[in-house]
Amino acid sequence: MSDLSDLYQELIIDHNRAPRNRGKLEDCDFQARGYNPLCGDQVTVYLKVRGNVVTDVTFDGSGCAISTASASLMTESVKGKTVAEVKSLFQLFRGLLTGENGDPGDRPSLGKLEVFSGVCKYPARVKCATLAWHTVNAAMEKDNHVVSTE
Ligand code: ZN
Repeated sequence: MSDLSDLYQELIIDHNRAPRNRGKLEDCDFQARGYNPLCGDQVTVYLKVRGNVVTDVTFDGSGCAISTASASLMTESVKGKTVAEVKSLFQLFRGLLTGENGDPGDRPSLGKLEVFSGVCKYPARVKCATLAWHTVNAAMEKDNHVVSTE
């Protein structure tokens, strides 16, 4: 693996060291499990949805720094949003990681999630960063199968 230092920015290191909203959410409405066989990352996302708004979200699991930090930031990003807003945020985030969004000046800012923009240079890591997002998407669609990034 080449130098990944630009991947491990401060925010990612911080969220990996002290993940936010980690742990099982009791009496959740939906949950889904995600697995990234390429890296071995596993995540379970728990959701509470009231009137189409994500009122609470937590995650649990184990994985690399990128997947853990991404899951932590995902929970912060989707709480309080509607299901439709979360889905469009997921599309934007995936575009950021695959470099399909164009220049930063031509699109809406993703706030803290911009920290993952360096990941697009490492295609293998894109799956680590999107795992929690695929999983929250599956949870919202009440898909009880395990999602795999493969
Ligand atoms: Zn990973």
